[in-house]
Amino acid sequence: MITRDDVLARLSELTGPDGRPLAQSAALSEVIVSGSKVYFSIAIDPSRSAEFEELRVRAEGLVRDLPGVESVIVTLTAEAPAGASGTARPQTAPERPVGPRAAAARTPAGVPGVRHIVAVASGKGGVGKSTVACNLALALARQGLKVGLLDADIYGPSVPKLLALTEKPEVIPGRRILRPLVAHGVKVMSIGFLVDEQAAMIWRGPMVMSAIQQMLREVEWGELDILVVDMPPGTGDAQLTMAQNAALAGAVIVSTPQDLALIDARRGVAMFRRVEVPILGIVENMSTFICPHCGGRSDIFGHGGARHEAGALGVPFLGEVPLTMALRESSDGGRPIVVSDPSGAETATFLDIAAQLMAALGNAPAERQPPRIVVE
Ligand code: ADP
Repeated sequence: MITRDDVLARLSELTGPDGRPLAQSAALSEVIVSGSKVYFSIAIDPSRSAEFEELRVRAEGLVRDLPGVESVIVTLTAEAPAGASGTARPQTAPERPVGPRAAAARTPAGVPGVRHIVAVASGKGGVGKSTVACNLALALARQGLKVGLLDADIYGPSVPKLLALTEKPEVIPGRRILRPLVAHGVKVMSIGFLVDEQAAMIWRGPMVMSAIQQMLREVEWGELDILVVDMPPGTGDAQLTMAQNAALAGAVIVSTPQDLALIDARRGVAMFRRVEVPILGIVENMSTFICPHCGGRSDIFGHGGARHEAGALGVPFLGEVPLTMALRESSDGGRPIVVSDPSGAETATFLDIAAQLMAALGNAPAERQPPRIVVE
């Protein structure tokens, strides 16, 4: 069983960016060992990233050679700008920067071959963000587009379950990148394929960001018209950094109709606006309940709240997805409604949302580079 100390002992063979042995260097993040998997990052001056790539590769190689290690993820992150201070913590490595300052220090870049990266986000969990992201990706694929789905919901990856994917992605020999799985013609990568949920739950912002960056850039996405990213719920630093770093063409916000959820949705809109990512629209999920027995309609969580909110915020309203038994069962049964009931009413809604999304993207430049931001 590999331990953190084994990893540190091996890393003392390398010299960190500050000239100290890497194991003792302030640039080394906490080392996370989860079973046979190891994760850590090295903080560097982003303008010298090419120079330190060799260090990253050597660190990865040395740790991978340790007995008991199956996979290693080492990433370079931007070092804390002068004056930025983290909260005091009882450990030697300094807090890596997260949030807008850190985001400003990194160089965002698109994913080669991927035309548009679109985030599906929500202000809080449980509103059906993953269900919408998954069905939206399938609806886009049905319109003949080349589509990828990246499940970046580190705190509760549900795409493996939604698409009944149980295999592990393979590493492409000699290239050290992962081959995505494919479901109903959509290329899929999920943090859930790579780590167990408990390990990811304890990650703080920088680890989350590293893992997401790796899933964006070290996966053979190939040529895609659109990569749909199922974001972690919420509007914290991890989400903000992701929004800034992933060169997003835009974001879709999912909300349920009731007031409380809409407050969170509003925060989501504000977050994307802060990093100048266009809001492509709001989707109201779990809108009117449609009874499977009598077809009667009841507005359990209210109705129309998201449409009204979209109007108030000046962003497009993309549609209402009803609360139905068929949607719940198909999602949880691993056959999303767009494939299990291709001519049903719910599917028609997702196809319509997909069409509106593509229309909105039609005007957006491909591989948009987010502007640098500085928040004082
Ligand atoms: P989130 O990603 O926001 O946490 P999920 O997509 O995992 O939410 O959905 C949470 C639960 O709600 C799942 O059990 C899912 O099947 C169910 N669900 C989501 N949207 C609907 C809907 N429109 N009708 C019925 N059940 C839904």
